Amino acid sequence: MSQQHVYDVIIVGGGGAGLMAALYASQNANTAVISKLYPVRSHTGAAQGGIGAALGNLEEDHWEWHAYDTVKGSDYLGDQDAIEFMCEQAIQSVYDLEHYGLPFSRTEDGRIAQRKFGGHTNNETGKPVRRSCYAADRTGHMILQTLFQQCVKHKTTFFNEFHVLDLITQNGVTAGVIALELATGEIHTFRAKAVIFATGGHGRIWDITSNAYAYTGDGAAVLARRGFPIEDMEFFQFHPTGILKLGILITEAVRGEGGVLINGKGERFMEKYAPHIKDLASRDVVSRAIYLEVKAGNGVDGKNYVYLDARPEVINKFALLDGKTRPDGTPYQVTAEEITQKIPDITDFCLTYLGVDPVLEPMPVQPTAHYAMGGIPTTKFAEVIMDEKGTVMPGLYAAGEGACVSVHGANRLGTNSLVDLIVFGKQAGIKAAEYAKANPLQEIAADAEDFTRAQINQLRSGSGIEKAAEIGHEMRKLMSQDVGVFRTEAGLADAVSQLHQLRQRFVNVKIHDSSSTYNMELLNTWELGNMLDLALITAESALARKESRGAHAREDYPKRDDVNWMKHTLAWLQEDKVRLAYKPVAYTHFEPKERQY
Ligand SMILES: Cc1cc2nc3c(=O)[nH]c(=O)nc-3n(C[C@H](O)[C@H](O)[C@H](O)COP(=O)(O)OP(=O)(O)OC[C@H]3O[C@@H](n4cnc5c(N)ncnc54)[C@H](O)[C@@H]3O)c2cc1C
Repeated sequence: MSQQHVYDVIIVGGGGAGLMAALYASQNANTAVISKLYPVRSHTGAAQGGIGAALGNLEEDHWEWHAYDTVKGSDYLGDQDAIEFMCEQAIQSVYDLEHYGLPFSRTEDGRIAQRKFGGHTNNETGKPVRRSCYAADRTGHMILQTLFQQCVKHKTTFFNEFHVLDLITQNGVTAGVIALELATGEIHTFRAKAVIFATGGHGRIWDITSNAYAYTGDGAAVLARRGFPIEDMEFFQFHPTGILKLGILITEAVRGEGGVLINGKGERFMEKYAPHIKDLASRDVVSRAIYLEVKAGNGVDGKNYVYLDARPEVINKFALLDGKTRPDGTPYQVTAEEITQKIPDITDFCLTYLGVDPVLEPMPVQPTAHYAMGGIPTTKFAEVIMDEKGTVMPGLYAAGEGACVSVHGANRLGTNSLVDLIVFGKQAGIKAAEYAKANPLQEIAADAEDFTRAQINQLRSGSGIEKAAEIGHEMRKLMSQDVGVFRTEAGLADAVSQLHQLRQRFVNVKIHDSSSTYNMELLNTWELGNMLDLALITAESALARKESRGAHAREDYPKRDDVNWMKHTLAWLQEDKVRLAYKPVAYTHFEPKERQY
């Protein structure tokens, strides 16, 4: 029998979304956060560039412009009602963060500073607008620290280094979760009236990725195994500027501050692909441009990378050519000190990992797996939905990168994830607490832990003829090769069949570490099982979608097909099969157009 705990609201995940949910839930309900990592080590802490909100502190801006940019960036797959809600709420949410104590960078007159970011425009001129609110290049770090302090102040209970392995339901209603305590290996049962999953993304299924090791998609995988659908998994964002081979992110803010992409011939190639907005086109467009340059033999030294150049003389040259000005109308020109001051962490990463000082030398970059647009399907109130009709699962909520509202559609704009965390994390917290007030605690069945124990026993008793590390390596290579920036029917079909084989081989993996304390082999192998499930759902969803939209680029179907494919994918994992169904995109008033940059 496990240790038992009872709360009104349980939040799985202590990142930006989980902490925001906790902050709001704990004001009205007895709330606990369960996190496999110590909360401030969550991936939100890696977010560099900023959080988008149309404050208009430096130039004219409106939340309606933000909404239009987000719809367009999403390649018209984002749900427009949810997008409008998010962009309107973003403004107050940023001020809330300011009032919680977040140390934003400031304008000279003391307001929150804002900078340009890909895809964010003045809707009248089409030119980039300063919309991203930032704290140097440590915005996510500051969000986590600020929210964690607020949660401590509001007496939220934390179960840190507890790994959630299953969801408990009773009579079709949420009843709690089962977790393994890392320090002891003990199983704990958490009964709750409402549960919020805020478990982050799953970018570790690709080999070149900007994502933390913890990004194994646990929340989506747990729910998929419990019969819930996962939405729009074929849409995974490749960020154009990962550090060569390592995948570590170089924020878009470098281009926001004037940095440019240069190919092996010394050309600023984005002029060809996005004549108006150039290096600040949305991420899918820029990643594809790099891929095409490399394919055409224009990579640096004919290899598979290009340069991101942030040397002041280069920034200044192109700023003059583009006629860029500062807010006061004077020409935009920068010094090396200004660059280093605006991107201190990037400077540090480049010096540490590449031995390159960005103000003296260009940085070698290649696209890196970055962000999951797909995930656990929810309403704009963060309620988890169970089918294409939108039926809500009582007491179950999801928010953050692990959820799919969907506000990012087929491609997320930079700075919009942090907004998503804050806006929908808050909704999840409020709604879960309301639900907990109005509904009783469910009794749980005597066999509630059985599935968790069965999963662990399976891992401990495999035949041992397979190695988890090898299967993981093969999965990541396969996903990058066949389910990467560009896709084809043959490649995707090959990925599906190889993933089936990898999942079968996974059954024969054995855990050799039999200890109960800090058994990372056990948990990392369990995480690999999650990734294999999500990789299969991703490949099957991508194989079925016969069009190109946002981050999903099919070489064999190069055009967007609004007649047949303007719809969200829902995918159910059924043993070793994936069943697909579709649900419509929510419209308000943005008519689909060709995207032009
Ligand atoms: C390098 C990088 C830079 C980025 N920069 C920006 C940016 O500038 N602007 C922007 O808008 N977006 C940015 N993003 C995206 C954004 O940071 C993430 O999408 C967002 O922070 C995710 O927040 P989250 O709360 O959903 O997840 P996380 O912050 O990752 O938190 C997930 C939490 O879930 C917990 N968890 C997971 N699985 C389990 C389990 N099984 N049991 C218990 N707990 C579990 C973890 O412990 C963790 O606390 C960036 C992403 C990366 C990788």
